[in-house]
Amino acid sequence: AKASGKDKTVFFNAGIGGQLSRKMELEKDLRLAFEYGQFFIVYQPKWNARSGEEAGFEALLRWRHPEKGIVSPGEFIPIAEETGLIVPMTRWMLGEVCRQNKSWHDEGLFRVCISVNMSYRVFESMTLFDMVDEALRSSGLPGKMLELEITESIAMKNMAITLSQLQRVRDLGVQVSMDDFGTGHSSLGRLDEIPVDTLKIDQSFVKSSNLASKQALIVGIIGIARLLDLEVVAEGVETEEQAEFLLSRGCVLMQGYYYGRPMPPKEVEAGKWRIGAA
Ligand code: C2E
Ligand code: CA
Ligand code: CA
Ligand code: CA
Repeated sequence: AKASGKDKTVFFNAGIGGQLSRKMELEKDLRLAFEYGQFFIVYQPKWNARSGEEAGFEALLRWRHPEKGIVSPGEFIPIAEETGLIVPMTRWMLGEVCRQNKSWHDEGLFRVCISVNMSYRVFESMTLFDMVDEALRSSGLPGKMLELEITESIAMKNMAITLSQLQRVRDLGVQVSMDDFGTGHSSLGRLDEIPVDTLKIDQSFVKSSNLASKQALIVGIIGIARLLDLEVVAEGVETEEQAEFLLSRGCVLMQGYYYGRPMPPKEVEAGKWRIGAA
């Protein structure tokens, strides 16, 4: 008697490799994951290869599913975006990250900016300013210690609305970086109009930085950043060769497994990831 259209869809889709049924299970479970405290945050260092000290951290979301184990954000973020859950999830994330950074700051452990990834959904919901303002106020963290990572497609979507929201949070001192720069919808033609402080060179460029053609693109991005007076960070740095190439071309800020994997706060605090640490 419960043969609703939706149930039929589940049955049908389970036939093609169970792919969609896993997605539907995750979608159902995602709603409860909050309540049950299944989300946690890991922090990946950004390293200043010139001064030899940490330059910041990127906060990345993790989901410990009771049966499926750790589900990667590549899998659950798109579902969270489709369902709209990404908006409350991002609000929670901003609150946690600001509280964490304030406590590291007060303990004198780290005095750096921590970045949080943004979804186009957050801009669509028009709640960005309120959630950032609330996270800063309740934690007491200065705005300049928080960074938002946006992508070119976010910036290019509803540009007027997105840019005005970015401007409002920047007025709180919050930093903005352009993630995955050089991939996706190109924003190059209007990069000068987007309020950003930093360009992040996408890991796909770094991965193939042994090729002369890709080296040219990396050098180009570093040049654009310099001319527009922006910081530049390379992400996905895995080898010493990659780090040396980037440094030789003037990219000083590095993020990647070579410098440290995303880690839970306790591990970040223990400091073993620091280059030269015992
Ligand atoms: P992203 O923002 O480009 O984050 C970088 C991803 O590259 C992370 O994957 C990180 O763990 C991984 N990574 C870092 N260094 C290296 C390296 O040296 N080599 C390789 N192969 N990978 C490296 P992760 O944590 O699985 O996140 C995947 C994507 O999910 C992120 O890409 C981001 O777009 C999204 N995401 C993660 N957390 C959040 C969040 O809280 N909110 C939103 N909206 N998106 C998130
Ligand atoms: Ca990012
Ligand atoms: Ca990225
Ligand atoms: Ca990426």
